[in-house]
Formats: sequence, structure tokens, C-alpha cells
Amino acid sequence: MSIQVLADDVISKIAAGEVIERPASVVKELIENAIDAGATELRIRIESAGKQLIEISDNGSGIARDELKFAVTRHATSKLRTADDLFRLDTLGFRGEALASAASVSKLTIVSRTADEETGSRIQVDGAKIIGQQPIATTPGTTVRVEDLFYNVPARLKFLKSDQTERNQITTLVTRYALAYARIRWELCSEGKTLLQTSGNGDARELLTAIYGLETAKQLIEIDEEREGIAVSGFISPIALTRSNRREINFFVNGRWIQDQQLVAAVNRAYQSLIMIGRYPLTALFIRLEPEDVDVNVHPSKAEVRFRSADSVFSAVHHSVRKGLQLQAPIPEMRPSPAWGGVDPSAWKTADRPAWRAVFQDEENAAETQPPAPISPDSFQPAFRPSGPSYEAASFIPPHTDGGGNVFPLLRWIGQIGNTYVLAEGPDGLYLIDQHAAHERILFEKCMRRAERELISIPLLDPAIVRLQPHEVSLLEENHEILASLGFEIEAFGPADFRICAVPEIFSKGNPAAAVRALVEDFEEDETPLMNAVADRIAARVCKRMAVKAGQTLSETEQKLLIQELERCESPRTCPHGRPTMIHLSLRNLEQQFGRKGKL
Ligand code: ADP
Ligand code: MG
Repeated sequence: MSIQVLADDVISKIAAGEVIERPASVVKELIENAIDAGATELRIRIESAGKQLIEISDNGSGIARDELKFAVTRHATSKLRTADDLFRLDTLGFRGEALASAASVSKLTIVSRTADEETGSRIQVDGAKIIGQQPIATTPGTTVRVEDLFYNVPARLKFLKSDQTERNQITTLVTRYALAYARIRWELCSEGKTLLQTSGNGDARELLTAIYGLETAKQLIEIDEEREGIAVSGFISPIALTRSNRREINFFVNGRWIQDQQLVAAVNRAYQSLIMIGRYPLTALFIRLEPEDVDVNVHPSKAEVRFRSADSVFSAVHHSVRKGLQLQAPIPEMRPSPAWGGVDPSAWKTADRPAWRAVFQDEENAAETQPPAPISPDSFQPAFRPSGPSYEAASFIPPHTDGGGNVFPLLRWIGQIGNTYVLAEGPDGLYLIDQHAAHERILFEKCMRRAERELISIPLLDPAIVRLQPHEVSLLEENHEILASLGFEIEAFGPADFRICAVPEIFSKGNPAAAVRALVEDFEEDETPLMNAVADRIAARVCKRMAVKAGQTLSETEQKLLIQELERCESPRTCPHGRPTMIHLSLRNLEQQFGRKGKL
């Protein structure tokens, strides 16, 4: 091919690709424009996850009639004049290409009126061509409608994810902006349904409640610090409140939501060793620094910035979060022990007799003053994980061996160790049962039998209410049927609230709201669940959440029941996720360990 200058529409489509990647990018640009226009009310309406329609109305400054055509022209902006202005920006926009980009890949209409105009005007653009402009009666402010996004870029259309995923992107985004702009009254509707609504009165707690629900909002810790000209304010979660993904670690730099791995690392470092591995805090941190100390012109989507002194920002964030956590509560030192699922050492200090004392009676006095150090998995090694060939005998029993006629050994209960393993004697030696894995298995099988109507769901006398975030609402709704088939009766109770009226019998002792919240969090984890195994997987997750934890003291009766119920399971040797529920230490292996064998 010879070298040729590209046609304008090709150029604009290529450029649009960088700014407008998916419906959520349109929403982001339009929101930013409304904020820049000083809006105090912002209404967002989407249809088909924004693929069909995105409409954003604001009560901001409006666009004058004769400037409307420039608004949709590439590189036309009212926000900067010289390149130096880039370092004294107080607006979110500055590139002058968002509306032009959106217009080139959709059918776009703007209706706008400034405060001093008597009537408004409407401009219509179709695939970058202005097809009409006329006066129209309207209130001051601007409404931008983006219809049939990517109708003229079929390749892009193919890259869009499911409605649910695209909608989640939008709701997550709007939620973030709502967090950062408490003085704006936000409303987000999808398919005529209100997903988010805030009052705009600037009250941070009220806003947090609208977004996260009362339970979470009241726990969040407020921080407000300044170091070396970098102010960090906002909210962080206490160590007891965590999420299973990083998605709710949010940063705003001078009012702009940004993505920054370094800052996520700074937050994680502040929480390090305080929360379990694989769990993440929830933060909304507003970083303010001089505009000249941050370069916002890194990428067309403006979601990344470059700091003049990244290290100072990192330490400002780290210190303010750490300080917030320290002020909230003296930080208990927890030894990270991932293999244990994070045993809380404070459990050792409880006044009532922990089960380990019942087992190791003679240690009772020795342990009086000093609670034993949390046992690390390594400390088991000499006894149960001898190196060399004899180790084989101590390994777990593969699940397939109990298939067919193999009878699960009858076990005699001995006790609990480390508040984590139940010890039992079998026909051939010692059995160490992982209480969490075993309970998971028991619950899972009960749960699966429910499908055959062996289990009933128990109505809650005092129905629990759970508040979900907009994107979680749709996740719950999508999995509603499966949850119902497992015995969860959940009904909508306001736009973001759900009432849990009944739970499966086996879970009636747990905290239903926490269980449902945890489940929804898990739904979020995978974007493409294997449809055929969904019910199994949900059941497995529910069971994981509801099962007794490692580190939990069990009474003698509870331990015995655990053994009995495990004996009744069809596949007692593994948890629903395939991990072993027990380790067997045979008599022969014991003999070898004690050097009895071969000595005679
Ligand atoms: P940028 O925001 O980078 O300037 P845009 O393409 O997003 O570029 O918008 C172009 C111009 O249109 C803006 O500079 C602003 O003057 C005007 N504009 C866009 N949206 C609004 C709005 N909601 N209210 C008032 N003016 C707007
Ligand atoms: Mg803009």
C-alpha cells in the first residue's frame, strides 16, 4: 500500500477508540463535563447498559447557542488555552475531544441553555456529522443523549461484554463520582429503575450510607492528614471490614478518580498483617496537591496521572491510612499465617477454657500466665510431616479410595488442637480432621440434598435487611433463582435494600445478612461462571462462608457431631473445593516415628 493521509472520519474513529472504549467511558466523560460546568444536580439514564441510550442531564452553566457546534468539534474546549494551562487545571476535562469522539461513534443530541439565554438549543450529530440545530424550550443546563453507541463501528460493538458487565462498569463509575462529589445530587436510572440516589447535601456519612448501607457506613474511619503539601482525606475501612477484591480501593486526585497501582500498594501496605491475605480494605481517599505537581495528561481516558514526586504521595497515603487505623484501635499484632486462614491470636486470651486445655491437661499451669504463641503450620512438621519415605503414610487419603464399597472408618473423638483440627482415633491410627473443611463438606451435602427436598428453609422471625451497591443488586437478581432453590428467600425492599425472609435450615444459626453479602461479593469474582455448575458452585460458596472457621473453639458435643456427620457424608474425604478434610497418621507410621519398628 502507498502512504496516504487518512480520511477525516477514519481519523476521528481511531481517535475516538482511545477515549470511548465502552458505554462507561461515555458516562465518565459526560459526568466530568457536567461537574466542570458546576452542576449541582446530575441525572443519568441508561438503557441496555448504555448500549442503546445514555442520557445525562445537569443544571450546570450550559452551552451558548453559537458555541454548540464547537462542543462537538475535536480539540475544541473552553477549559484551556495554552499548553502551560495543563499544569494549572481546575477542571476534569481539557482535551476537547470527548463530545467529538462520542459523536463520531453514535447518534448524539445535545440540548442546552445558559442562564442568560431565553430559550435553549438542540444540536443533533450522527456519526460526526451535524444534521441539525434548532431552538427548543428548556431549563438552564445541559442534556446530552448518546444513542446507538458504536452503531457505525461494528468491530467495537463485538468487543462489548454482556449487559450485566457493562452496566456494572457504569454503576461502579457513577458510585465513585458520587462519593467524590457529595454536594451534587446524583440519580442513576437503568431501564427506568433507580439504582442510585443521593441527596447532595454534602453530608459525608449520609452519602456513605446511601452508597454502602448503614452497617458499613457507620464503621468507616474518617481521615484527614497533610504531609509536605499533600492532603489526604476521606474514609478507610476498619480492619474488621474487608472485601474480596481491590475494586473498592478508590483514589481521587484533585477530584479526579484515578487508577494507580502504587497507591493501591501504599494502602495495602498500611493494612499489611492487620487483615488476612486475599482480603482488601475499602477506601475513598481524596488526595489534594498543587496542580503543577501532577501531570494529568498521561492518557486520553485521563484515568491515570503522573506525580512529580510519586514517593511523597505514596508515603502521604501510607501514613495517613496507618494513622487512621492506629487512632481507631491499638493495632493488634497478628502473625501472618496464611495456611491457617488467619487465626486470631486474641482467641487464645479468652477467659473460658479453650478446648486445647482439655486436651493438654498437664500444660494447664504452664500456660496460666502466658498464652501459647499461635502455632504455625511449621510447628507440626516434626511430628506429622516427617521427611523421608515415611511421610507418605501421613498424607491424606485420596478421595477415590472411598468410592464403591469402601466404608469410612468409625472414629472415636479425642479432642481439638489449635482450635482448628479435631483429633480422632480410627481403626488404624490417628485422624486429624480439618474442622473447617469437614464442616464445609457436611453443609455442602446437606445443601445438595435440599434439591431433593430433604431440607427446608426456615423463615426468619426478624427478617434481616441487607443494603447492596447498585452493581451488586443486579448480581443478586441474576442469581436469585438459584439462591431460592437453595432455600434463601430474598425480596427487594427498596432500590438497594433486600429483605432476607428465610434461609436454608442449616444456616439458620449464622448471620443471614453477612452470608448474603458474602455471596454477592463472590458472584462478583467471576465474570463468566460455568453455567451448568452454577448451583453447585453457589452451594459450595455458601457452605464455605457458613462453615465453622479455623481458630474457632468447638464444644465436645460439636466436635463429636462433626465427626458423626462427616461419617455420613458421601464423599467425606474432601471439602467441596477438593481439599482434604483429614489426614491419617497410621499406627505403622507412628511406630516408625518412634523408632519401634525394626528395633526388635
Ligand atoms: P473538554 O471537556 O475536554 O473541554 P468535551 O468534548 O468534553 O471537551 O467538551 C467540549 C466543551 O463543551 C467543553 O469544553 C465545554 O465548554 C462544553 N461542554 C460539554 N459538556 C458540557 C456541559 N454538560 N455543560 C456545559 N458545557 C459543556
Ligand atoms: Mg469533557
